[in-house]
Amino acid sequence: MKRREFLKKAGAGTAAAVAATAIQAPAVIAKKSYRWRMVTTWPPKLPVLQTGADRFAKRVEEMSDGRLKIEVYAGGELVPPFGSFDAVSNGTVQVGSSASYYWAGKEPASQWFCAVPFGLNAQGMYAWMHSGNGLKLWEEAYAPFNLVPRPGGSTGVQMGGWFNRKINTIDDYKGLKMRIPGLGGKVVAKAGGTVVLTPGGEIFTNLERGVIDATEWVGPMHDLRMGFYQAAKYYYYPGWHEPGSVLEYFFNKKAYDSLPADLKHIIDAACFESEVWILTQFDGFNGAALQTLITKHKVEVIKFPDAVLNKLRQFAEEVREEEAAKSPMAKKVNEDFKKFQKVVGTWGSISEKAYYNDIVKKYSLKS
Ligand code: CA
Repeated sequence: MKRREFLKKAGAGTAAAVAATAIQAPAVIAKKSYRWRMVTTWPPKLPVLQTGADRFAKRVEEMSDGRLKIEVYAGGELVPPFGSFDAVSNGTVQVGSSASYYWAGKEPASQWFCAVPFGLNAQGMYAWMHSGNGLKLWEEAYAPFNLVPRPGGSTGVQMGGWFNRKINTIDDYKGLKMRIPGLGGKVVAKAGGTVVLTPGGEIFTNLERGVIDATEWVGPMHDLRMGFYQAAKYYYYPGWHEPGSVLEYFFNKKAYDSLPADLKHIIDAACFESEVWILTQFDGFNGAALQTLITKHKVEVIKFPDAVLNKLRQFAEEVREEEAAKSPMAKKVNEDFKKFQKVVGTWGSISEKAYYNDIVKKYSLKS
């Protein structure tokens, strides 16, 4: 009896030791490390956008216990700012950080995944991505380029821009030279404006010298940093052209697919975290920056007249259909987006809108 018990214990012990070895051994073998590079379209140290990309890389490294390290290069450091799409697509680097409306020339559908004039706000875009077909369609649109896209944040509603002319009627857009990218630029062109695409670093000088009459950029936090209040008189809202611009991370498909499942989950989780973090930075800091612009720099903040917004909305709908006709993918995305916006907009009219209407009674801007 004693001997049997002894043998049983010894056997169990040996078996446990063997099991422990078996558990540990493959774990050691499986710990393959990866070294990736990321290129962005943002200037070095640009708050929230470039610093958000740096933060993303750091989080992936921490969460993976150093198994996936991503070295981040700002726009121009490794490839030109707008060369990131190709660099990731052809596998020169593994990751990109940008805004998908810059890739309209590659696939017109790309524009819908970033900003649609009079389209969805940040909350709506996130809902379309994760509870609707948004991300699925985005993956389909990027697949021919060997890319896997992920939303990585949102600016929230942007500002309408800085103007040296007042916009009282839609005719005031005629001959207006404005820096405004994406579908919004096409709307301004339809209204009779001249759209100028100026790199970020040259906007201030062009505005100050009268090369352009107006520019949009992001929101109060970034606009304050650019010093536009020193070069333009009027600060218009709302940013009808970019109601909730979504920022993106995109991965070379071969590199992404080569990762083990846990590292893929870490990447996806870090993208989700980045979505939340970036939106909270914009929401948290834009308000304070707006106060500084109004009280310290005496900026005149003006709402676009309703009649102007109504006309711009009509042009925006025309532009949307014209762009959608440019590729089968854009047509498919536009149809899905419209359907989703209708459903979300209807719900929003009695939820977010109703609530906002109520709270703005107390907090509306008095400038
Ligand atoms: Ca913008």
